[in-house]
Amino acid sequence: MKILVINAGSSSLKYRLFEMDTEKVLAKGVADRIGIGNSFVKHSGKKEVIIEKDLPTHEEAIKVVLSVLTDPEAGVINSAREISAVGHRVVAGGEYFTESALVTDETREKIKDIIELAPLHMPACLMGIDACKKVMPDIPHVLVFDTSFHSTMPDVAKLYGIDYEDYKELKIRRYGAHGISHQFISEEAAKIIGRKHFKLIVCHLGNGASLSAVENGKCIDTTMGFTPLEGLIMGTRSGDIDPSVVQYLAHKKGWDVSQVISYLNKNCGVKGISGVSSDFRDLTAAAAEGNERATLALDMFSYRVKKYVGAYAAAMDGVDMIAFTAGIGENTPEVRQRILDKMDYLGVKYDKALNENCPRGEVVRLSTKDSKVLVYIIPTNEELVIARETLRFAK
Ligand code: ADP
Repeated sequence: MKILVINAGSSSLKYRLFEMDTEKVLAKGVADRIGIGNSFVKHSGKKEVIIEKDLPTHEEAIKVVLSVLTDPEAGVINSAREISAVGHRVVAGGEYFTESALVTDETREKIKDIIELAPLHMPACLMGIDACKKVMPDIPHVLVFDTSFHSTMPDVAKLYGIDYEDYKELKIRRYGAHGISHQFISEEAAKIIGRKHFKLIVCHLGNGASLSAVENGKCIDTTMGFTPLEGLIMGTRSGDIDPSVVQYLAHKKGWDVSQVISYLNKNCGVKGISGVSSDFRDLTAAAAEGNERATLALDMFSYRVKKYVGAYAAAMDGVDMIAFTAGIGENTPEVRQRILDKMDYLGVKYDKALNENCPRGEVVRLSTKDSKVLVYIIPTNEELVIARETLRFAK
């Protein structure tokens, strides 16, 4: 059975086609610059191709994706009919979606209601869903949410210290994000640990970054909140900040609230601190050349992670495994070292040489035999989780 996984952004549509019998990726690619000119589809299947074509809408984009997937030279299938179901990544599921769901008139209406909670991302998700449904109307479309895995958070972790009636009326609470990745890492960790009862801290460190505390496979806390702005310092996001700063910035810079929020999302984080880049490859290179602000950015990023590891170890009364994943977690030893050094209170011991020179794209055990806590690098695979969820519903 073949399943197409779609991740739609406002001007892009990423896709990956899976053969689910083997869970092998047959083809992947991205339709980019949709609706903004100079658009193209970059495809990797039997062959790698770039198709430059005007893509005014997501519907046009998915049509071109289907034509390249079925192209005799670059494609991997003979007909779009070979695709049995489509899985859509959806960033926010609100309180309604605590697990994946089929696209129906009812769930689509619910998605529309959730747009207010994530106005930056949800309209694009909906465009992607509608476009795919229109072009492939006869097969199941499944919604897989980035918030579902966090829906098991207890009230003590998910509620803010605001008026409870406001939470009830306006649904202002912590939802988390990256749940698809946190779920994948938890499942892989469970296999490694070999038992159902364990305490795990997942460090998903990418451009967007979040930690989660997972007890016996269920999320009990995570660092992102009402939106992905809360928690860790990220590529361009500030992470936790005193809300009074919003008012002060608005007053001093003459900005309205949305300008301040846009600034906190796009111009802050390690990019703002370093003045160099949001990309950790640039930051580590600049730090190695003696750039003090790049070093400060690396230190601050890692310090915030370390602090939350401590918080989650406290929340779970211990931790069996710390798992690193995503672009930085998998590829930036300088950050892992800063986080893992001086974790003697937890009994963490790890192989420093291996940390600096570990194989890429593989599961790696960094902790030594005498470490009280397992430390692993586990490459994430969010698309596979979406494909598996889609298969479950399509069946
Ligand atoms: P997102 O999916 O949130 O955009 P990623 O998980 O791709 O983010 O992570 C992006 C970050 O990971 C960047 O800061 C980048 O520098 C870092 N990164 C990705 N690949 C590598 C690599 N091979 N070596 C070093 N850093 C990497």
